[in-house]
Amino acid sequence: MLVDKHTGQTLARVDKPVYEVIRPAVQKTLTNEQYHQGLLSTLESSDPDVYRLLTQEYDRQQSTLQLIAAENQCSRAVLAALGSVVQNKTTEGFVGARFHGGCEVVDCLETLAISRAREAFGAKYANVQPHSGTSANQIVLTAVLDKGDRILSLAMDQGGHVSHGAPVALAGRIFEIESYRVRPDNFLLDYDAIRQQALRFRPKLIICGTTAYSRIIDFARFRAIADEVGAYLMADVSHISGLISAGVHPSPVDQAHFTTTSTYKPGGPRGGLILMGRDFDRPFPVGNRTIPLWERIEKTTFPGFQGTPYLNNIAAKAVFFKEMLSAEYKDRQAKIVENARALAEEFVRRGYDVLTGGTDNHLFCVNVANLHRGLTGLTAQKSLEDCGIIVNMNRLPYDSQNARVTSGMRIGTPIVTRNGMRVAQMPTVAELVDRVLTHVEILGDREYRLDPVFRDEMREQIRSLCSRFPMQ
Ligand SMILES: *Cc1c(COP(=O)(O)O)cnc(C)c1O
Repeated sequence: MLVDKHTGQTLARVDKPVYEVIRPAVQKTLTNEQYHQGLLSTLESSDPDVYRLLTQEYDRQQSTLQLIAAENQCSRAVLAALGSVVQNKTTEGFVGARFHGGCEVVDCLETLAISRAREAFGAKYANVQPHSGTSANQIVLTAVLDKGDRILSLAMDQGGHVSHGAPVALAGRIFEIESYRVRPDNFLLDYDAIRQQALRFRPKLIICGTTAYSRIIDFARFRAIADEVGAYLMADVSHISGLISAGVHPSPVDQAHFTTTSTYKPGGPRGGLILMGRDFDRPFPVGNRTIPLWERIEKTTFPGFQGTPYLNNIAAKAVFFKEMLSAEYKDRQAKIVENARALAEEFVRRGYDVLTGGTDNHLFCVNVANLHRGLTGLTAQKSLEDCGIIVNMNRLPYDSQNARVTSGMRIGTPIVTRNGMRVAQMPTVAELVDRVLTHVEILGDREYRLDPVFRDEMREQIRSLCSRFPMQ
């Protein structure tokens, strides 16, 4: 029994929901909904406005079908670490070289996060401080490149990420960017063409890793190209890092000089991670001496790019990396891919144009413009959303539509898998999407009409399907 040391009251009587939340044995028996009600109850009286919105967001996530490939769902343990008092601690620098007192606990937390990250990915070096995947990329780029240096990266409209050199983002303004593209006939990476382009362009850094590619990436091939032209290789595996840690996708950690990822996409807290394998201590020239490459990355992280680390996120990363090492997590990564394969097959069977014909990972893209005249990625996304199915529109390689409308939608299976859906449910998921997209009446690039009776019926069906697979 927990007893309040000042009043002698048992906490169970003082604040039942919170008490239930903090007692681990009870925690396991709570449904996720009860657990969240307990967490939010601390806000209910102090800030009813935010309380109401957070409750609404919980309901939205629970009652709609979450198919965004870039989203995932973290565990209660990760949420607990995010909401901990570690949030109050401020410091700068790295373990052993901090700029503030009182770091004995957070030093342990960061060290733990690092050692677990290294273990989860088989890496020689891990940096858990980047605030986001984008920051992790900027840190690597600014660590090894000078203003005006050349980067070869995948074009934005083909699955490249904004932080890989889009003209609107920082890297695009500092460095000289050239893009490679997928093959126009089958939308696959064309390694011979990339090699030719690298030999001509002579980049100092090559970036691989994408936001919308459904096939295996050959990191060894990318490294061979980088070595041939004397470039660094950065693998940004934000989308597939969970699969990589579980051995479901080949690992870039020893192939690339740098591997970066966001930590929320594989199912952890928001944040970024930089990993290094066999090149971690390769000498990097600074003035007339050299420092190891990993040290260059640290100095660029702080003071070069960021200020104080988000220590509560680092605590949550430690929790998440331990989860990644579990058999349950690894098993789930395989199921995510099985589900994505089954779902893609079902779309193909229903006559949809699935890019590359299927998938080897957690996602695939569909050309919805080929489905019926006038449908766009935007109208597909919006009409599906009206019915409770959450996807995102996506530009496709060589897309004829502009970026605000697009011809594609991207579908991913991490969340439905997390909540217990298996291959047996995938035909139902495809059928629900198909019913909306065949029913919607197209009025323009951005306008459409859905019969309200049909919409309400769909919503109800989806709500009931999701209630059978509650948030975990
Ligand atoms: C999501 C993503 C990022 C950005 O990560 P953030 O943490 O959202 O900044 C970078 N690269 C790729 C390939 C991504 O998919």
